[in-house]
Amino acid sequence: MKPSGPLDRVAGAHDAAVLAVARRGEPVARTGLAEALQVTPQAISKILSRLSERGLMAELGSVSFGPGKPTTLYGIVPESRRAIGVHLTRTRLHGVVADLTGQILERREVEIDRGQPVPELISVLASAARDLARHGAGELLGVGVGMPGPVDPVAGVPLDSSSPTDAWRGASIRDLLLTELDMPVLVDHDSRAALVGESWSQPGLLDNAVLVLAEEGLGAAMRLDGTIVRGAHSRAGEAGHTVVRMGGRPCPCGRRGCAQAEYLAALEDDDQELAAEVLATVVLNLVRLVDVDRVVLGGRSIYAHHQVTMDAIRAALDRGLHAGAHGHVEVLLSTRGVDLIAAGAACEVLEHEYGLPSALVGPAAL
Ligand SMILES: [Zn+2]
Repeated sequence: MKPSGPLDRVAGAHDAAVLAVARRGEPVARTGLAEALQVTPQAISKILSRLSERGLMAELGSVSFGPGKPTTLYGIVPESRRAIGVHLTRTRLHGVVADLTGQILERREVEIDRGQPVPELISVLASAARDLARHGAGELLGVGVGMPGPVDPVAGVPLDSSSPTDAWRGASIRDLLLTELDMPVLVDHDSRAALVGESWSQPGLLDNAVLVLAEEGLGAAMRLDGTIVRGAHSRAGEAGHTVVRMGGRPCPCGRRGCAQAEYLAALEDDDQELAAEVLATVVLNLVRLVDVDRVVLGGRSIYAHHQVTMDAIRAALDRGLHAGAHGHVEVLLSTRGVDLIAAGAACEVLEHEYGLPSALVGPAAL
């Protein structure tokens, strides 16, 4: 198998485009790929043989459509690559190892102490990653970590937090873990990781989408025109700190009436309808602001009351968007359940290696 390196990345965009089509799970053929990606069949042959040589794709057999040479079918080789994904909260670590298609091979759950000192946290993270690395066979590409934000994904550092006791603020989680594990590490905001994971096996489906995540807090991530939005300070999507009630409940961020404060207070009062109303307001505001066609909901707080939440959001969108004048917006529950962020963090590693500008691949299967 050829090692990957800077020169390998030059061919990466074409290879990634073919892999993105194959990732949907259907067998692919040279002619169909050439039409879909608007390159010559000869170029596709080169890409397919390069991907096969690297073990990422393999011939599945051939079929005949009438007279002439039979068509060779190719498929992705899920077990050829692996990535580890970790969802880190202040009390728990949920880790997975996933194959090239984002399918989970194994899980680990470890409780951690709130405010655990950074060196101990790194050692717990590393030990979970080493444990997960023993499962599956393909080349291990690295470790992704999704954590509550804001997070600077370039530096791999959690930024200032609204929680004054947060012992991890400003810690170089990525660099420390990289030194400990000696493999690539990627750290990002939990909701961004979740959004990448949600669309990894269906490239193009969530090109204009928001993912609203309700775990211990409330946040969102956006992909607009095929690109995940990070913003000038990696803080895009902090929907939990947008105000939904003037003069409302105090929020640790210093303001009043933030969506997160109102949502958590409603949950504490066991007022699920009010909590759902808050979420619906956040979703409608986001849809109005950035014009998406899909909204994905995920996170433990949402799963606990998903029916009332989905109903409230659909009703709010119907009312707020004047029944179709704005275009249809689909509201979906995450397909990944509680694995959402861990799987997403693993998929961010896969995307780093094999992702592509998704404008190259439309949502339709070949
Ligand atoms: Zn706030």
